Amino acid sequence: MRLEGKVALITGAGSGMGRAAALLFAERGAAVVCADVRADAAEETAAAIAAAGGRSLAVAADVSVAADVESAVARAERELGGLDVLYNNAALWLYGPDGYVEGETDGPSPLLTEEIWQRTVDVTLKGTYLGCRYAIPALRRRGGGAIVNVASVGAFRVGHGSSDAYTAAKGGVVSLTRSLAVEHAREGIRVNCLVPGAIETPLVSRYSEEARAAASSSIPLGRWGRPEEIAQMALFLSSDVSSYCTGQTYVVDGGYLAV
Ligand code: NAD
Repeated sequence: MRLEGKVALITGAGSGMGRAAALLFAERGAAVVCADVRADAAEETAAAIAAAGGRSLAVAADVSVAADVESAVARAERELGGLDVLYNNAALWLYGPDGYVEGETDGPSPLLTEEIWQRTVDVTLKGTYLGCRYAIPALRRRGGGAIVNVASVGAFRVGHGSSDAYTAAKGGVVSLTRSLAVEHAREGIRVNCLVPGAIETPLVSRYSEEARAAASSSIPLGRWGRPEEIAQMALFLSSDVSSYCTGQTYVVDGGYLAV
């Protein structure tokens, strides 16, 4: 699975699965636009790629802001020559009994406030839409390309502590993937959805040891996944190896949904 000659834009590239994918994509030959709302985190990933001899560009962008996403795509075209792959990976998991707590991922299931709902949907669902909206014309200019959206097992099975806003937004990402795939298939633009299970990243770092162990016991493979294991599926869906795949969801969860 190679990405030579391709330019990939990865949102949320400053951490977890986005960073792992950025490093892998660059290793396989892609020039990578590392976009993240945290400019320093995007810079760190881009610097790691450069240190390994790869080509990258760090972009500070909030995926819920149209102008930021438009500018990230424009920079890919202007500074790296075009866009072939969009990995729509950025999302938030807002969680907190006292209301909106950015970065808070622990505690009992909160009463869902309107503020948590809005921010979650804005980043996770609208952010995915905005990525597609601005990337699709750029992919078209290259004669086609690949979009990989990111959902979650929470869109298919509840009861593991995700908030209602998060699961609803991720369900929307699955449906958005299908409709975009059908609309753009004849243009050579493939759109797929990657569905991670429980993966060890900063997003879930506030889980207690007890909660981690409980989660592991519900996974047939008996452990959490690693960001690098998700990056391999993202690479497959972004590369020409998956040339006949579109409109589908690809679950990487250690068997969790099979139970
Ligand atoms: P993470 O928190 O480690 O990384 C997410 C990155 O996105 C961070 O760098 C953050 O700064 C960035 N980000 C947040 N809001 C943003 C915004 N508005 N604009 C741009 N960037 C923004 O998370 P992760 O675990 O690597 O999650 C990656 C994806 O996988 C997400 O879509 C998440 O919902 C999904 N997911 C994660 C798990 C898990 O167990 N970790 C499970 C299922 C799905």
